[in-house]
Amino acid sequence: MTLLVTGSAGFIGSCFVRQHFQIDNEPVVSLDALTYAGHLSTLGAAKDRPEHTFVHASIGDADVVRKVLAEHQPRAVLNFAAESHVDRSILGPEEFIQTNVVGTYRLLECVREYWSTLHGTAKTNFRFLHVSTDEVYGTLGPNDAPFAETNKYEPNSPYSASKAASDHLVRAWHHTYGLPVLTTNCSNNYGPYHFPEKLIPLIINNALRGKPLPVYGDGMQVRDWLFVEDHTRGIRTVLDKGTPGETYNIGGWNEMANIEVVKLVCTLLDELQPKADGHSYAQQIQFVTDRPGHDRRYAIDARKIERELGWRPQETFESGIRKTVQWFLQNQDWVELVMHRASPVR
Ligand code: NAD
Repeated sequence: MTLLVTGSAGFIGSCFVRQHFQIDNEPVVSLDALTYAGHLSTLGAAKDRPEHTFVHASIGDADVVRKVLAEHQPRAVLNFAAESHVDRSILGPEEFIQTNVVGTYRLLECVREYWSTLHGTAKTNFRFLHVSTDEVYGTLGPNDAPFAETNKYEPNSPYSASKAASDHLVRAWHHTYGLPVLTTNCSNNYGPYHFPEKLIPLIINNALRGKPLPVYGDGMQVRDWLFVEDHTRGIRTVLDKGTPGETYNIGGWNEMANIEVVKLVCTLLDELQPKADGHSYAQQIQFVTDRPGHDRRYAIDARKIERELGWRPQETFESGIRKTVQWFLQNQDWVELVMHRASPVR
């Protein structure tokens, strides 16, 4: 038995692999193109496990993917690989189309070909799990009900449009070819190893470097936040118990405005690493011109995964954000290591 995990050197894929080896010895083949957002060090100790094999390749490289599938005969493929930063998708959508749409298509084709060679329970039990986002549903008004799996897709950014396209391909490969797929749509994640261009790690790292803490527009964009280890536990639950062809929303039941999140991070930093001059890090907050097409509110109705599969988040935002800030304070060497390859977007 083996799992193939794509995008394994990124924030969430690496968390899945690290968590997997805390509870299981099943081999993992992890495949990642190591873009600016992927780094082998993000896999931590999992990287050197005897049950772990790393393949440096793109999901769009059909020759390599075919070979990996034939050689390792995985019982499931989990697709975390993606271009994932909305700001970058606005500056240059091409990579997002290439990886999220064309890459997912090529991966699906290779997996379909491999799956068609399987027999008996190996074929019936095989799963392709596609990791997606709540951003495919568009934006909510202040009083709208949270996104359910039945909401229509209304993506507003090049990033969310490319993820929506990939979700549609995955759905079509199930309905047309019978591939046993599962799709998860999750809200904003946070936690250790979060690439430092995303809101929470950006705020922590800019604060520590005495830089401005940029907040878009009025800072009142609302997001639902989920600790990354809860997300990967949810993915594992869907892999083990989900019904092929179904989609599952995963969320933290924790809506917060961006400015509230930024202020909370500043308060934690004030407590854990006070500034020498006694001032609060919050004084570094700067409101900047809003992102074009910025969605106002996302919220997730995660009742289906709770009702049908028994998953609920274990971490509260208070405990998860404290762990996250502490992790970044203790792992600034990782931040330096991964940041030097990324061109800044803001
Ligand atoms: P990330 O940017 O941290 O990691 C993405 C990884 O994919 C990187 O290691 C990168 O090198 C790799 N990659 C990029 N292009 C590739 C390609 N063509 N072939 C192989 N590998 C490639 O992203 P993340 O935050 O870990 O997100 C993982 C998945 O979860 C994405 O599909 C994203 O859309 C989804 N998601 C993310 C969040 C979030 O809050 N971060 C929330 C919901 C869903």
